[in-house]
Amino acid sequence: VLDVPIAEYARSSCPSEGAPAALSDQLREALPHALERQEFELHYQPIFALEPFQLIGMEALLRWRHDYQEPVRPEQFIAAAEDSGDIHAITTWVFTTACRDFARIQRRTGQALQLSFNLSAYCVNHPCFIPWFCELLDDVPHVTEFLHIEITETSALVWTQRLLDFFQRLQVLGISTWLDDFGRGYSNLKYAADLPLKGIKMDRSLLTNVTEDPRSAQFYQDILQLAHNLGLEVTAEGVEQAGELRFLQISRCDYGQGFLFAPAMPIARFMDYVEASKTTGFPNPKEFATLQ
Ligand code: C2E
Ligand code: MG
Ligand code: MG
Ligand code: MG
Repeated sequence: VLDVPIAEYARSSCPSEGAPAALSDQLREALPHALERQEFELHYQPIFALEPFQLIGMEALLRWRHDYQEPVRPEQFIAAAEDSGDIHAITTWVFTTACRDFARIQRRTGQALQLSFNLSAYCVNHPCFIPWFCELLDDVPHVTEFLHIEITETSALVWTQRLLDFFQRLQVLGISTWLDDFGRGYSNLKYAADLPLKGIKMDRSLLTNVTEDPRSAQFYQDILQLAHNLGLEVTAEGVEQAGELRFLQISRCDYGQGFLFAPAMPIARFMDYVEASKTTGFPNPKEFATLQ
């Protein structure tokens, strides 16, 4: 199995991707109070099986709006929340809210979609994390089989024994696990091979050039093939163009999400989207806007 340092490749193929700006002092001070002030909101982005094309799930994505300002990017404040320790309370809120929303969406649309939930590896490495998370899971037995947990592997992932234990525990419970942003950091395919994973989510930086640059296309297909050979499924992140969708379908990528289909939306809008998709097929955001 290979160790592939993909970070450099991803940077060269997507030069506009910058590191998120540091959090201002004002926001850093506001962060510990954001939960009690109810400044967090979850948005949901649809995930599709590509062949046959079908809505199968949603990813919960966290939004923080402080004092009527523009929402703060999660990549900015998640790191700060890890530094301050607020990440644990935030994760609890995200998890319980997402499970509640899951039931609401199921009631309203009659569909039991997969629920993808982002977990910071930092969280998992806390000594109390596993018992604490298992307690949360005990309260939502109806969600377990639909739950998909995504762990970001950028932080050269502190692959501790604790993290391995966690993955194994989830496997026993029947919960699917994914490596998120694969190809962005120092992507180690050995982890993908050794962990009891359902699949990998390919970082969108790897998809940006596939329709113009044969080398990028080949690279994408090689990783896809390698993942499939390891028995892993693959979700493409950042599908923005019809040409990219065609490429992914030809390359037999399993799932996709991206602005071509829909961005992350507040729950009410997400449920309208699911409802609209039943009668119109899957509207892209522009068509969806005209349906409203
Ligand atoms: P992610 O888990 O890889 O989520 C996908 C990100 O790509 C989301 O950004 C989504 O809005 C964005 N995206 C989706 N489709 C497209 C597309 O076609 N084009 C482009 N340019 N972007 C697209 P978002 O919501 O800003 O989240 C960024 C990251 O923050 C997430 O990346 C995830 O790692 C982290 N994050 C979000 N919510 C949570 C959370 O509740 N907990 C933790 N620990 N991390 C979270
Ligand atoms: Mg994710
Ligand atoms: Mg990702
Ligand atoms: Mg990402």
